[in-house]
Amino acid sequence: MKVTFFGAAHQVTGSCHLIETKTKRILFDCGMFQGGNYNEGRNADAFPFDPSELDAVFVSHAHADHSGRVPKLIRDGYAGAVYMTKGTRELAKIIWDDSLSIMRYDNEKFQRPILFDEHDIDEAYGCCDGVDYHQKIDLGDGVTALFKDAGHIFGSSFIELHADGKTLAYSGDLGNKNAPIVRPTEMLGEIDVLLIESTYGDRLHEPEGHRKQLLLDIVKKGIANGGVIMMPAFSIERTQEILYDLDQLKEHDKTLPNLPIYLDSPMAIKAGKVYKEFPEYYDEEAAQQYKMGDDFLHFDGLEVTPSREDSKRINHSPNPKMIIAGAGMMNGGRILHHAKRYLPDPASLLVLVGYQAQGTLGRRLYEGAEEVEIHGDRIPVRATVTAIGALSAHADQDKLVDWVRSAKKTPAKVYCVHGEPHASTELAHRLKKEISGLEAFVPEEGETVEI
Ligand SMILES: [Zn+2]
Repeated sequence: MKVTFFGAAHQVTGSCHLIETKTKRILFDCGMFQGGNYNEGRNADAFPFDPSELDAVFVSHAHADHSGRVPKLIRDGYAGAVYMTKGTRELAKIIWDDSLSIMRYDNEKFQRPILFDEHDIDEAYGCCDGVDYHQKIDLGDGVTALFKDAGHIFGSSFIELHADGKTLAYSGDLGNKNAPIVRPTEMLGEIDVLLIESTYGDRLHEPEGHRKQLLLDIVKKGIANGGVIMMPAFSIERTQEILYDLDQLKEHDKTLPNLPIYLDSPMAIKAGKVYKEFPEYYDEEAAQQYKMGDDFLHFDGLEVTPSREDSKRINHSPNPKMIIAGAGMMNGGRILHHAKRYLPDPASLLVLVGYQAQGTLGRRLYEGAEEVEIHGDRIPVRATVTAIGALSAHADQDKLVDWVRSAKKTPAKVYCVHGEPHASTELAHRLKKEISGLEAFVPEEGETVEI
């Protein structure tokens, strides 16, 4: 078996790994490169392999950096099955539709290329019914695969592929400990080789029990300051988890002070509907609430603003208030309008709740920029910028190491992907140091390894 790393090597986005067995060519993920013009420009490049020669494509989860180029793959000649869970299929469709409308806008305004159209999206959506966790997928010639729950976002999975007498696992993205709604990450089986994400390979999050408390502290601080709490959040999962926590604080703990909270993300509103279609994916606590008829994505004081007019009305509502809007890394979306308006206000707070890729506005703010450019205007940053790692949807270094350690059979070789160089290298060092019989590597983009 051979593996070639065509994306998410020495960086976080653009996940795309080609697996060649004796008889099959299989792709794990086909994601968009994100962050900065150079990276995003690469999405229009021809694939470094012939899509028409692939036998199967597996998509670990719906996030654009994992699923975003699947319709382009079809446009460029792939005609086989795209395997993904039923939840991923629904959420990926929302992501693809959203990408298409952004590409059309960018094409009109900046003459940027459009990578696929509705027809390609329909093909990508239609060429597989969606699979269940643990359903055995038989590709023939003794090659089989299985999706297990990664606990990262709704429908997310890691994949175990059995071929040529070996088992290779691909982590996709792994969830944070005790994340709400989604179930915990399942255990690895008997694995020979592992491709593991390393987004937070060099970091530890705040203890997971603190997530609600941290959120409550932020809301209280926002109210005391009398400004606006802006929370850029990924529309899929992060937003729903935050709504879940706020629902808990409001309706169960009764500790959330009264404050108007706006969900200003059409994509998150659509994604919330998908969450309601698949209660079988809920963890115990969410399932219990579902049974009791509690809509855990809604609570008193939450206002949903799907249309542009609804969104504009937020400007006129008095402070303090909280606005949850996409995009999570501030590389687009409605959060930009709010940031432009409220970043110059020292009473306001910007709360970053997820990984911020290099080249994004979120990253510049995270690194302490005093002035940023939004829609061509220079905006002074006087608001307080803060980040909460415990609200991340990614596993931290401890969880990644524990997950590998608890595999039914320790993998002999581990390749750390989906991380910036320092994060991937730190994770590889710790894995080698702490788990005997294991070799760990940080592959280069385009590198092929023989297994
Ligand atoms: Zn992800």
